[in-house]
Amino acid sequence: MTNVQTGAGVLAGDERMLIDGELRHTASGAKFDVIDPANEQVAGQATDGTVDDMARAVGAARRAFDESDWSRDLEFRYHCLTQLHDALERNQDRLRRVLVTEVGCPVSVSGSQIDSPIDEVKHWAEHGKAFEYLVDTGMHDTPMGPARRKIHYEPVGVVGAITPWNVPFYLNIAETVPALMAGNTVVLKPAQLTPWSGSEYGRIVAEETDIPPGVFNVVVSSANEVGGALSADPRVDMITFTGSTATGRAILAAGAATVKKTLLELGGKSAHIVLDDADFNSALPLAAMMACVMSGQSCILPSRILLPRRRYDEGIEILKTSMENFPYGDPWDPGNMQGPQISDGQRRKVLGLIASGIESGARLVTGGGIPEHLPVGYYVQPTLLADVDPDSRVAQEEIFGPVLTVTAYDSDDEAVAIANNSIYGLSGEVSGEDVERAFAVATRMRTGNVSINGKSHFGITSPFGGTKQSGLGRRNGAEGYQEYLEGKTIGMPA
Ligand code: NAD
Repeated sequence: MTNVQTGAGVLAGDERMLIDGELRHTASGAKFDVIDPANEQVAGQATDGTVDDMARAVGAARRAFDESDWSRDLEFRYHCLTQLHDALERNQDRLRRVLVTEVGCPVSVSGSQIDSPIDEVKHWAEHGKAFEYLVDTGMHDTPMGPARRKIHYEPVGVVGAITPWNVPFYLNIAETVPALMAGNTVVLKPAQLTPWSGSEYGRIVAEETDIPPGVFNVVVSSANEVGGALSADPRVDMITFTGSTATGRAILAAGAATVKKTLLELGGKSAHIVLDDADFNSALPLAAMMACVMSGQSCILPSRILLPRRRYDEGIEILKTSMENFPYGDPWDPGNMQGPQISDGQRRKVLGLIASGIESGARLVTGGGIPEHLPVGYYVQPTLLADVDPDSRVAQEEIFGPVLTVTAYDSDDEAVAIANNSIYGLSGEVSGEDVERAFAVATRMRTGNVSINGKSHFGITSPFGGTKQSGLGRRNGAEGYQEYLEGKTIGMPA
């Protein structure tokens, strides 16, 4: 960062999208506003892509996949993605300023949203280069005599990538780079609240890499129907999506007609089981921090805290103190770790869910509203709700705000039952001094990932994804790369 003085780093991103190698505006010249959530002002604009623009982008990606050597030339792909990594590094400061401007992500915690994904481009280039695309499985008995079988791993084809606004640059990279390295061509549709994290990525690909026209396209738009057109287009072989469960269902339905391969990372409502032997002074301040960093706009946030009844009051007191002392406000101030919510609509949704919790009998311990000292910007106070009914809306629906709900339990079995009382199954957390007991509890949580005592499950080298209505398939790890490949089994003479 060159400048983290209050508000001084605000930067508008590129207005254009990338279609078939060309940085362009939509034909009508229509644009939509991008709002800076920290000051509620228009920070700039983005071209408002249409269903026609999407059709052109898909056509370009189809042609690039079917008619160019991209899918077969591993060395060239390695060259292009290494170039991309270096180009993103050169643009790191600009990308960070665009992110803070359009998301309101505090600059102090932007490393995981900018620096880490840039490193991950290098990781996928190396992983893809070393991947064994041809595996000889040896001889197999068949009624027609012995046959040798080999598995050839081939790219799926045209991949449509649709991303949300909460960690936009990170997810734009996570959804598209392994797909490209595996030999697919890609059309990216970023979220309407954060078009610049996508358009800047497109600009960098067009201006600073040898990635050929059509291989990578970005269509920005204010309209959900443009994402809908991508997920329904018969020329698209696979959709990789991160976003809400409701949109995930729509994408699955849209792809059903052509039986599209679909990778879905959806919503979450993760539980944190705090066992009665846990070190509360270490586990609970960390839980409060997790709830507030990124303004609670994190899919893996363990937002439902389950406390043992005999230590309930002690736990509430520690959580209350931690949330009341959490530094929040202007995202450009390096002392803050929580910024605004992304939009007025999201803030209203968060406040509405807090109110519904109180109506259903929860006790407001701290927070619960708009901070008086921050009248401008979409801020919400760090909020703690105690005595929360596990069946109530606030315990069942994803809040996506700096809010923790707390529920008491009497036995490990009851804690596991409450944790599993959810349509979601993304992540979870267990805290306890006896790690074997904590591990046993973790194995009973019906989720794709669990952390014990704050040791993160999340990272590029390990598979990540949801169970139940939190998703289908995995990102990251070896499994995450293979999602973008089809294994073709070839039987042949010995
Ligand atoms: P969203 O589902 O509203 O939108 C996500 C994307 O889908 C946007 O680009 C949007 O334009 C597009 N879209 C909307 N309707 C569409 C349709 N009918 N067809 C195709 N595309 C469509 O989600 P959001 O509000 O942007 O993001 C927040 C959600 O994302 C939360 O539920 C959060 O849990 C989830 N999320 C999940 C993960 C994960 O890894 N599981 C990570 C980050 C965010």
